[in-house]
Amino acid sequence: MWYLLPLPIKHEYMDAEQQLRVLLNDTRLAEDLKNIAQKVLNHQRITFNEGVTLYQKGELSYLGVLANYIRQERHGDNTYFNRNFHIEPTNLCVYDCKFCSYSRLIKERSEGWEYTMEDMLNIVKRYDNEPVTEVHIVGGVLPQYDMAFYQQLFSAIKAHRPELHVKALTPVEYHYIFKKAKIDYATGMRLMKESGLESMPGGGAEIFHPEVRDQIAKDKCTGDQWLQIHEEWHKLGMRSNATMLYGHIEEYWHRVDHMEQLRQLQDRTGGFQTFIPLKFRNKDNQMSNVAETSVIEDLRNYAIARIYLDNFDHIKAYWAMISRTTAQLSLNFGVDDIDGTLDDTTKIYSMAGAEEQTPGMSTKELVELIKHVGRHPIERDTLYNVVTDYMDYQFADEVKPQFYKLPVIN
Ligand code: SF4
Repeated sequence: MWYLLPLPIKHEYMDAEQQLRVLLNDTRLAEDLKNIAQKVLNHQRITFNEGVTLYQKGELSYLGVLANYIRQERHGDNTYFNRNFHIEPTNLCVYDCKFCSYSRLIKERSEGWEYTMEDMLNIVKRYDNEPVTEVHIVGGVLPQYDMAFYQQLFSAIKAHRPELHVKALTPVEYHYIFKKAKIDYATGMRLMKESGLESMPGGGAEIFHPEVRDQIAKDKCTGDQWLQIHEEWHKLGMRSNATMLYGHIEEYWHRVDHMEQLRQLQDRTGGFQTFIPLKFRNKDNQMSNVAETSVIEDLRNYAIARIYLDNFDHIKAYWAMISRTTAQLSLNFGVDDIDGTLDDTTKIYSMAGAEEQTPGMSTKELVELIKHVGRHPIERDTLYNVVTDYMDYQFADEVKPQFYKLPVIN
C-alpha cells in the first residue's frame, strides 16, 4: 500500500510523463507493478498475466498514472463526442440474456414496441434540420427484422439523407439474420455494406469466454462468431467498435481474456476504432441479486483497458450509463471519448437502472462538462474526423452583452 503517489489529475507543475517517472522511482512499489509501469513508459505491450496482475494488485492512483500517460501520448487533452440519434426497432427479443433489462420476451408483447419501416423513417426525418452526423440502430432480435428488412431500411435512410452515417446492428442480429437467410458471414456483411451500412457498433460482445457467456447470454452468437463477423466486416475495409460487459459473474481473467481476443483480432485487421467497457446494471433483470461494481472499480477497469489495448485508438465511456461526474473523472483514467449528445431516443441505459433516466445533453452542456475538467472538447463524426473544435467556440447565447447607450436626459 502506498499513499504518496501522484493522482492522475491535471497538475500545473507535473505532466503525465513526470507523474509516471515519479511513480517508477517510488521504492515502495512492488516489482511486478514497476515492471509494468516501465513497459508502459517504453511503449511495450503487457502480457496476459500482467493484465491479470493489474486487476489484482493495481490501485486506482497507480493505474490512473499509467492510463493517463497513454491517453496524453495519444490524444493530449482532446476529448471526443458526437451528435447522433438512436433508433431501437424493437425491445422484443427471441433471446433471453440474463443481464438484459431492456428486452421483453415475445410472450410479454404488451410491454414492448415494434417499429415499422415507416416508423423508423419518420424518426430519421424528425432530425432533418438537426446537425446530427450519425444514426445508431440497435435493438432486440425478431424474425420479421430480417435481411430484406434491414437492406431496405439502410437503403431508404441513405436515399433520404446520404451524408448521415449509418451505424447499425451487432453480430447478435447479423448472426441471426444471416443464418435465416442461409448465407455466410462474408456474403452477409458485403450485402449490408452495399445497402448502406457504414459501421458496426460494439454491442453483443458481453464476455467472450464460454464459461461466462453460456450462463448470461446462452443461445445468441458465441464469442468466436462475434469476432468472425467483425473480422469479415474489417476485411471489407470497414470500421467497428467493441464492448465488454463487466462487473457481474466474471472473474478478472475473463476480462483479460476478452481484451486479449480483441487485441489479437485488431493486430490482424486494424478495423476497431473504440473500446467501450459497459458496466453491468442490476435493475429489472434476472441478475438483480448481483451487486454492481463501485465507481472505483469502474475507473480501474477503464484504466486497465487503456493499458492493455495498446492497438485501440480510443476508449469510450457512455456518460448516460455511468453519470456525468463519473464520465468527467474517467477522462483521467484513459478515456478520451464520452459518446454523444443523444436525446431520449435510447432507452437501453435508463431501463437498466442508469443514473440518467432521461439521457439528453445539449452540445453546450457537453462541451462545458469536458471543459470543466480541463480537457479540450472536439465534436467528431463516426470515423473520428473533426467536425468542430469547441475549445474557443462561442455559442450563440453566450455572446457577451453589448454596452448600450444610456438614455440621455436633456
Ligand atoms: S441483450 Fe440483446 S440479445 Fe440479449 S435479450 Fe437483450 S436485446 Fe436480446
